[in-house]
Amino acid sequence: MSARNRLNEVYNIIESSTLGIAESYSESISKYTQAKKIATELLDEKILVASEAVLLIETQTTGTDLTKLAEQLRVDQLNIYNDQAVIIASNVKEYIGWKASKGHPVHNFFINDQRVLVEEIRTDTVNGLNYKYGYIRRYDNTFVQIGVLAENVFKFTNQFEIQHLINDIVQRDEILHAYYIDENLKVVARSAGVEVETIEQNYGGTKDLLKREAETERCTWGDEEVIQVRAPIFSNDKYLGTLVIHWPTSAVDRELKSIILNDLFEFFITILVLALVLVYAYRKSISNVKLAYYDNLTELPNNVYLNEYLAEEIASRGNKNLSVLMLNCTNFKTLNMTYGYKYGDQILNNIAQNLTETLIENEKAFRFNADRFVVILKGYESRAVLQSRAISLIEAFKKTLAGNAKYEYISAQASIYEIRGDVTADKIFQDLDLAMLSIKEDAKEQVAFFDITMENDILRSEQIERTLKDVIEGKDNESFFLHYQPKVDLKTNQVMGFEALARLNSKEIGNVSPIEFIDLAEKKLLIYDLGKQIISRSCAFANQLKFEGFENVTVALNISVLQILREEFLNDVKKIIASHKTEFSALEFELTESAIVENFELINHKLMEIKKLGIAVALDDFGTGYSSFARLHEAQIDTVKIDRYFIGRLDKLPSGQFLTEDIISMSHKLGYTVVAEGVETKTQLEYLKEHNCDFAQGFLFSKPVSEKEAILFLRNKSIG
Ligand code: C2E
Ligand code: CA
Ligand code: CA
Repeated sequence: MSARNRLNEVYNIIESSTLGIAESYSESISKYTQAKKIATELLDEKILVASEAVLLIETQTTGTDLTKLAEQLRVDQLNIYNDQAVIIASNVKEYIGWKASKGHPVHNFFINDQRVLVEEIRTDTVNGLNYKYGYIRRYDNTFVQIGVLAENVFKFTNQFEIQHLINDIVQRDEILHAYYIDENLKVVARSAGVEVETIEQNYGGTKDLLKREAETERCTWGDEEVIQVRAPIFSNDKYLGTLVIHWPTSAVDRELKSIILNDLFEFFITILVLALVLVYAYRKSISNVKLAYYDNLTELPNNVYLNEYLAEEIASRGNKNLSVLMLNCTNFKTLNMTYGYKYGDQILNNIAQNLTETLIENEKAFRFNADRFVVILKGYESRAVLQSRAISLIEAFKKTLAGNAKYEYISAQASIYEIRGDVTADKIFQDLDLAMLSIKEDAKEQVAFFDITMENDILRSEQIERTLKDVIEGKDNESFFLHYQPKVDLKTNQVMGFEALARLNSKEIGNVSPIEFIDLAEKKLLIYDLGKQIISRSCAFANQLKFEGFENVTVALNISVLQILREEFLNDVKKIIASHKTEFSALEFELTESAIVENFELINHKLMEIKKLGIAVALDDFGTGYSSFARLHEAQIDTVKIDRYFIGRLDKLPSGQFLTEDIISMSHKLGYTVVAEGVETKTQLEYLKEHNCDFAQGFLFSKPVSEKEAILFLRNKSIG
């Protein structure tokens, strides 16, 4: 990238960062402006109410102590005038007898015929202090004057000052100054170190610029070089003023990209919320149909339009095919964060354009929300056609960035809802979300049709998750347990160990396969705690075996990669095992080949430490990972478990036999023992014996069974 491009890029980042700030504060600024207005009105009202009150009191009770009354009403002056405009009573004794002369504001009120008046703040002609005054007249032309000291007025309204926001803004890292100019070019608030005159000089020549789009410029400020970003603030399309922020030029030189990006991230959330507020505001003011029904960025029909259109189509569908297809960009947030919002907007625009170009007859596209689009398809022939349309639309989505090497790629997925019967738009979108969630990241086709089972799937997952949590928290001691499957020594025909396999069977959901619930436990990050229970129960079983006199029978248990990657794993393992007083050598940990391959260095190191403790390690499902052979010799393991896929092939494909043979002999050469998994037939067993496989496990000997059955099996069964 050339230096110039680089500079431009940093400029862009700074600018969008400022816009982010401006945007996130714009709501506050407009609120503050409003709040201040309300506060001022309130104050005026308060003065009037106080005056009314005085009128009432004065007419009913003579000789009231006005000092007390003023205190109660929290006003600083309370004067009662007679019909000659002379003060006859006051909380300030010295004022009594004072007469308003011609031209004095009090006299002005006296001679005109307004009943009430609240003045702007002015200087008191007697004591020279600033007050805000209000008057109220009685039918007999006597009147009451109430005054509040200006500093008290400010104390009240100051809480609503934009200055607070400016102070807040300059607290941010790296921002030098900030100031805010209102629509009349008045400096409303500024941070320390910026003078009003300098500001006025600065915008002197750029008056017109202030109201336009945001702009970034390098300029001199005093003796300092700064990067000035001017961001206009709007509320409901009304221009309120401009927020100006100065960044140090070093931001460019030092490439503070990351700091600024962090800011962006923080503001991303705020901006999202703001966007929602704006959308809501749009919907509220359907004064302009175009604004209300079309997205102003992409010019596609918007969500409001979509809902109305969809409702109509559903009502008039008849027997025609009708579907809603949702397109979701999966990496838009990242793009936005990395390259800024302007760029993000540009992308959305391109996407909209590409989508529109890809549409065929009877298809209509909408912008659903930030990075989601919806296409409604009518009268197509079949589900297969739908599927291929979905793929074309995804391609159009992706095309956006094609050829633009700088910005990587865009990825998208689609979910489809085929409408049957009467259904609401809300329900459709909810179900489309579900279908979208069901798309696996690595699936070849990123398309999913919603079907009713999906909803059930989600409910089921939630139930399983709840049960697992109860198990972990000790609230449910029944649903979760271990079964044990014997492993047989092929030389002695004796059971040499068991593999512990997790089981879940609850009243609510029935029997759940470990493939399903272990996977879920991993996704929901419950596997670590569940794993601790598995280790603990395996220890108890190992102790039981010892107690029954089967000294050398080991217990193997499956360890998930998410367990082993946790820093405290080894310590926890030691603690659990110690609490059961189980010997380390009675246990074996099985880890899948894929788990080891993916984080080889890290996991291999942990395996070494596990082995050091005296716990044996087995490489599970061997042969299913691709890179298997390359680093097998470095792996810190004792045993290789050949995946049952290779065993199953033994009596089907003669050619498959070679591979199994090779695995056995190679493993032996590396000094590992070999276990064959999933042995179901005598033929398989014969083959394995012939090729010196050490151990075998499978339904041929026993399925996984309960602890009791496992011990009975040991006592009674002679295998052979
Ligand atoms: P795995 O570790 O490969 O476990 C062996 C699986 O093969 C078990 O399925 C077992 O019942 C099955 N099996 C045993 N003999 C035969 C046979 O002769 N033929 C056939 N077709 N299958 C046989 P299961 O119990 O359904 O477990 C499935 C997987 O769930 C396990 O595969 C393991 O990856 C995972 N799993 C089970 N328990 C645990 C656990 O406690 N922790 C972790 N992390 N994963 C577990
Ligand atoms: Ca296993
Ligand atoms: Ca296995």
